Amino acid sequence: MTRPGISKVPDSTAAFPSEPPGRESAREELIRQETVHEEFVWHDPRWRGRVRRRLLGWFATQARSLPWRDHPTPYHVWVSEIMLQQTQVATVIDYYHRFLAAFPTVVDLAAAPEERLMRLWEGLGYYRRARSMHAAAKLIVERHDGVFPTTFDQVLALPGIGRYTAGAILSISADRRYPVLEGNTQRVYSRWIGLRQDVTTAAAKTTLWDVAGAMLPRTGSGRFNQAAMELGSLVCKPKEPLCHACPVRNDCQAHRLGLQDEIPGKVTRVEYESRNEFGFIVPTRERNVLVQQIPAGQRWAGLWDFPRWTEGDVADAAAAAKSLSHQWGIAIRPTEKWLTIKHAVTRYRITLEVHRAKPIDAATIPTDQPHLQALPIDRLANLPLSTTGRKIARSLVGK
Ligand code: SF4
Repeated sequence: MTRPGISKVPDSTAAFPSEPPGRESAREELIRQETVHEEFVWHDPRWRGRVRRRLLGWFATQARSLPWRDHPTPYHVWVSEIMLQQTQVATVIDYYHRFLAAFPTVVDLAAAPEERLMRLWEGLGYYRRARSMHAAAKLIVERHDGVFPTTFDQVLALPGIGRYTAGAILSISADRRYPVLEGNTQRVYSRWIGLRQDVTTAAAKTTLWDVAGAMLPRTGSGRFNQAAMELGSLVCKPKEPLCHACPVRNDCQAHRLGLQDEIPGKVTRVEYESRNEFGFIVPTRERNVLVQQIPAGQRWAGLWDFPRWTEGDVADAAAAAKSLSHQWGIAIRPTEKWLTIKHAVTRYRITLEVHRAKPIDAATIPTDQPHLQALPIDRLANLPLSTTGRKIARSLVGK
């Protein structure tokens, strides 16, 4: 007997399209991607491209108007970067204006009596910064005829200038492709890649410098560096980062894993829980596949997915299929394993086994449920699918 609104499916598996060419490589590629630990996400050029685009798009509309951004000569960038070390932007602005009014060029700074320089610096603190600038200005006059040097090594050789400041000066003033890593970017990059290490270790610093370098666009490095620092100042704050307003939240590993309050730092408190879940590709006689809209209150609510058992541990695919059968009234039996996807959701490390399945004997597919549909595979491209649902859909078309 057939229930109203139910279509009988005699042997849907037989009618399912044969495995498309290239299926193996597509599956292998998916498995490869999924086994890459999230700290290596930055090796993926597509991830870098997305983050870069979103960050720069945000910076184009949200960048603060700051005096040193108007005419970013090497001298101006240098003065601002040194002043901004250990000091808030709001405090620096007045000092910056007074400093440049007193010493419009590096030659003027070199010629200034130290007392005058110190008087102007008074209140900014960390006076060694001012003394180093003074010494550097004199060196620029002596060695470079008063013209700010333009090679990285020459800039780095100046007193008080380290790798970060040299990179900032050359990238911002001359669009040279040098990364920066200071307090803000260290925090931002650590969170982007979900770095679990203590950032004061040499290994973590090496990783973060590598990330900072890899993120730079071919042109516009200075703009990118400023955008990353600005994100750290305005959004990705040390405490309570404003992830809801962050342009890169969808690609940020710390946000994805709920670790934004733990990173940067050695993450020791997070205990991961392994879970096995099972999903099913259920083909129908019409060469469609079954998809379900995920109900409110569940992970990825509102998106669509392949039938998947997510509510608690089950021993194997057969048990998951049975549980789904009870829940939806779809009696299915797993046939072959199609794909394994490893992914993380908050503290869960999930191994999703995707099986092909067929309805049992005279089983039926409901057609009267708005949240459960049998669709042609090519229609899935336009359906808002969960992340893993999208991977499964791609594996079916071999791309
Ligand atoms: S999503 Fe949150 S933690 Fe990640 S970069 Fe943005 S503000 Fe920082």
